[in-house]
Amino acid sequence: MRESWPERFAETPDVLIGARRERTLVRVRDFVVGGDEFIVMAGPCSVETERQLLATAHHVRRAGARILRGGAFKPRTSPYAFHGLGLEGLKLLAKAREETGLAVVTEVMSECDVPMVADYADILQIGSRSMENYSLLEAAARSGLPILLKRGMVATIADLLRSAQVVLDYGNPNIILCERGIRTFETAMRNTFDAAGIALLKQITHLPVIADPSHAAGERDLVPSLARIGVAAGADGLIVEVHPDPGNAWSDGEQSLDFAGFDAMMADLAPWIALRGESWDQRQAAQAQALEAVG
Ligand code: PEP
Ligand code: MN
Repeated sequence: MRESWPERFAETPDVLIGARRERTLVRVRDFVVGGDEFIVMAGPCSVETERQLLATAHHVRRAGARILRGGAFKPRTSPYAFHGLGLEGLKLLAKAREETGLAVVTEVMSECDVPMVADYADILQIGSRSMENYSLLEAAARSGLPILLKRGMVATIADLLRSAQVVLDYGNPNIILCERGIRTFETAMRNTFDAAGIALLKQITHLPVIADPSHAAGERDLVPSLARIGVAAGADGLIVEVHPDPGNAWSDGEQSLDFAGFDAMMADLAPWIALRGESWDQRQAAQAQALEAVG
């Protein structure tokens, strides 16, 4: 006989929707991830220059983003590629937050860097390559900041939930799961976007789930379609790479949208996001109550 979901994910009981468990609402500055509002995180793959970051931050905020993304510490496929500006990048992110009011999500790759990154970020991103680094997860969890946990590129849903359970076990319930594409036999795209994984995570866990169409696609022309699929699958938000001049980006230029492309994607998504809003109206009262509870 087929196992039920709770049996299949029995190792990670605290991330599953239990009988009385409310949805997790992750408070970030003056808004919430996982509630009624669809949350867009946007920005460059890497923080490169003040000009690049500030122009992008202002643009994505005007187009409706809530959170600025940008890597100061970059895990790269090639060991010879640009590895990020480090502390200087974090300072630029903080400056962009000050100027725009956007919250900041940025990756932390090493447990020793957690205190420094936590001084500048509103959300700590755990990258795909680090998802199973349990000592990093422990340090990040103990910072008390919300954690954006990206699914490893060869991680199953159960593996992702195990990492989320580790963060919870270290006393941090503020976890946002992220589907960013997985490796399969298909090589036409950079990764295979697991839309069913998003639908499943929304059914079985109480955590917010966001979609990363950029790393899933690897190719900018595909990003708006995958974003739409992410919304339809039930994602609570998106994380998207945007760059003022993708052709000259220091990392992931091929999959980065330029400003006009980002605006077009946001316009295209609006009716889909509105549809999602309608189906969520029934839950609104319950969520408002839960929001009061997180204070
Ligand atoms: C990124 O967000 O730029 C990144 C490196 O993502 P991932 O860890 O999903 O590859
Ligand atoms: Mn990237």
